[in-house]
Amino acid sequence: MRYRLRVILIFVVTLATYPSASGNPAVPPIRLQVDLTDAPRNIYHAHLQFPVQAGDVSLVFPKWIPGNHRPSGPIAALTGIRMEAGGRPLPWQRDPVEMYEFHITVPSGVEVLDVFLDALTSQDSAGGGGPAASSNILDLNWNAVLLYPKGARSDDVVLAPSVTLPAGWKFGTALPGARRNGDQVEFAPVSLTTLVDSPLIAGVHYRQIVLTTPGQTPLHVMDLVADAEADLAMTPKDLAAYQKLVAETGALFRARHYREYHFLLTLSSQVGGHGLEHHESNDSVVSERTLLDPNLHMLEAGLVPHEFAHSWNGKYRRPTGLVTANYQEPMIGDLLWVYEGLTDYLGNVLAERSGLLTDEQYREALAATAAMLDHRAGRSWRPLEDTARSVQILRMIPTSQWVNWRRSLDYYPEGELIWLEVDSIIRQQTHGKRSLNDFCRQFHGGESGPPKVVPYAFDDIVRALNDVAEHDWAALLKERVNATGTHAPLGGIERGGWKLVYTDKPNAFTEAAEKMYKFADFSDSLGFSLGRNGEFADVIVGSPAYQARLGPGMKLLGVNNRKWSPELLHAAVKAAQQGAEPIELLVENAQSIQTYSVSYHGGEKHPHLERVAGQPDMLSDILKPLAP
Ligand SMILES: [Zn+2]
Repeated sequence: MRYRLRVILIFVVTLATYPSASGNPAVPPIRLQVDLTDAPRNIYHAHLQFPVQAGDVSLVFPKWIPGNHRPSGPIAALTGIRMEAGGRPLPWQRDPVEMYEFHITVPSGVEVLDVFLDALTSQDSAGGGGPAASSNILDLNWNAVLLYPKGARSDDVVLAPSVTLPAGWKFGTALPGARRNGDQVEFAPVSLTTLVDSPLIAGVHYRQIVLTTPGQTPLHVMDLVADAEADLAMTPKDLAAYQKLVAETGALFRARHYREYHFLLTLSSQVGGHGLEHHESNDSVVSERTLLDPNLHMLEAGLVPHEFAHSWNGKYRRPTGLVTANYQEPMIGDLLWVYEGLTDYLGNVLAERSGLLTDEQYREALAATAAMLDHRAGRSWRPLEDTARSVQILRMIPTSQWVNWRRSLDYYPEGELIWLEVDSIIRQQTHGKRSLNDFCRQFHGGESGPPKVVPYAFDDIVRALNDVAEHDWAALLKERVNATGTHAPLGGIERGGWKLVYTDKPNAFTEAAEKMYKFADFSDSLGFSLGRNGEFADVIVGSPAYQARLGPGMKLLGVNNRKWSPELLHAAVKAAQQGAEPIELLVENAQSIQTYSVSYHGGEKHPHLERVAGQPDMLSDILKPLAP
């Protein structure tokens, strides 16, 4: 009942167009000056000036961050808080219960409240991992450097933002109206919604690439910052692929919900890796050598298309539970298997259609995803929807220990499998005349224009799918997200004319990831993966390693009486295939050292997709580019 009410309320509130920068002309904007000159030592300084009247004032720090879907506002990083009126200090108090809330009494005669605060950015303010700045790069998420009046709608709060950059640094942002004077940049007044939605990246090594042709609207720009100048060398092939990505989204959705679009791409090993979607930009951080190293290039290829697709799926169309009036109102993640799952599906398909991934690479990635999910023991107790509803908890866990039993943010990869299945059913039922492309066009397309939010509920998804092809979508989707079971939903792969198989040939994606991130994967054979020092990251429930009573957190020392290495363990798996002897693993567990006998004779097992003879290759049809 409460949920229903909330849905109706939110619908009324948010169908309005995107907030204009004008706000209420009677109230001057809140001035926000951010001094970024200390970014190299990971501290940002902010000065806010609030128009106020005498009396009690409560200000809040943004708590629920869009795209994070959880109360991840970096409150512990908020420091150096000072409040003043006319140069005289004003005492403030944090609310005893709500840590994100501050109370002040403004004396009579005071019209402007000055608030000074610092944001420590050694833990990424976007909710990823690692610092948001380094000696020559920074990422500014405005929610980390501001307070706003308690209870106000973010659409109604207007701020006039400006920054001071470290000397000579260049910047990129979708924030409109930039006027640079030396290292000082002023922006046009915008709503709090737009400001939080428009991060800024800056750096010593910066390059801007315009992806649209002169005169073509809306403008699409890629702003790159990197650890070193050489990292910015984009190949002509990649440039063509990113241009194609823009064209492919046009052909898929046939509408754009932004004034102009900025791909903010940070290439760095110094700052935390993440991707965060916004209406008019995406803030993506990838490894420093992603444009230069083929392995990294393949592993990261899906990120930018994923974050770009969010402009339609997630920002423009958003589940009602994730549409909130301001950043203090809690979010409900139940439909994240649409918000993130469909975006995962579209992101990888778009990466392939644009040429960032080959057909073969796409299939290898899909096989690795399918195999991982097919070994999720936790699906016996935890339905997919619970992984979405639990985003607040699951996002907090820094370890992969027992991840197969706990499950993780499975609404992403399993969402990909579910939407592939939906696509394949539409194509099969309509004999190839219709597809998920038609759904995207109807659901995410509409009229082009500035950002706005159109919320949806589960029934809206079902209705829109039925408009494309009649099917009992409600029953299918409820089964996929609410049921427990033993196997991953592989129906899309099978209808697509392929099947998941395991062979002794390494999976290209997993092999590249092992090399780049220094781990050894035996998940589909022995039932575990190992960190670079031999620590068991996870042990799959029911696997041979699990039967042998091994567990995550233990550390591998030796294999069959020799000091362990990934090569030696691979050789032992191969050798055991010929005999009946178990593989002997010498393992350290805290203070004890013990030998575990693993009875496994199935040989190396790596996931791939294999064509099913005689069945149409629908998966390849799905991957065909749409743009001319
Ligand atoms: Zn996403």
